Amino acid sequence: MLISEIETKHILTHSKLPGLGYSINPYVGCQHACVYCYARFMKRFTNHDEPWGQFVDVKVNGTKVFDKDILKVKSGDGAFIASVTDAYQPAEAQYQLTRSLLERIVNIPPELLLDGFAISILTKSDLVLRDLDLLKRLTKISVGFSIAMTNETACQLFEPRCSPIQKRLDALKTLRDAGIKTYAFISPILPGVTDLSSIFEALEGIVEYVCGETLNMRCGNLTDVLSAVSLFNEELPPEFNQNIRSRSYWKSVEREFYRLAQKHDIPVNNFFHHISSEHVY
Ligand code: SF4
Repeated sequence: MLISEIETKHILTHSKLPGLGYSINPYVGCQHACVYCYARFMKRFTNHDEPWGQFVDVKVNGTKVFDKDILKVKSGDGAFIASVTDAYQPAEAQYQLTRSLLERIVNIPPELLLDGFAISILTKSDLVLRDLDLLKRLTKISVGFSIAMTNETACQLFEPRCSPIQKRLDALKTLRDAGIKTYAFISPILPGVTDLSSIFEALEGIVEYVCGETLNMRCGNLTDVLSAVSLFNEELPPEFNQNIRSRSYWKSVEREFYRLAQKHDIPVNNFFHHISSEHVY
């Protein structure tokens, strides 16, 4: 694992996420090395030859830059942490860059942002609990965990360096018990691996809402995903390859998603589709 320290020009970057004008990515690259990672396209913007998951650049001047970037933010804005990395990957235990940024956010003077600065964190690591003291001091905060499966063997195959699923579920409960708004991002939905029914069952009572997302096959991950899926599930139906490229298949997954959400009384905030004409048969 190559860990490098870099300087960045900006730490708040514009984002189109609803209700949040900015993203904060304290790192480039991600040690979590998920097989399906959509963010691997970021490698294009680095000088790295290592495979995705084998390098991480730490934006060591992130907090200094934040102090300048925050001056351009308008009332009502917020930030998503993080869109193309995991802000609580193992490097964070040492560098505490995400924690330092949260400290800055907690201490934004009220005269600068009258309505506060909304923060939404999405992670796959229970290291986020380390920062519970700061999270409790934020007025507009939500913390979510990505969960694509409940089977720990599958988790080892697809997300080898993330917190085990049970730890993510336990962390959601701890956050919720502490009064933090919690959510789950059921993503990516992996046919033959994701068991929506068991995920919704596990989430009951510990999240305020869920979002869903189909498998994103547009980022050069398909070969790796398909080989991991067949390693996990040797009895894939013959129509599997056709299904993952079929709009009607993903529509039926979405219907099942909403049906289970209703059954477990968990509101759905959003459901993202990634199927594109190049994939449709
Ligand atoms: S945690 Fe997120 S950013 Fe990191 S490798 Fe996994 S999918 Fe990619």
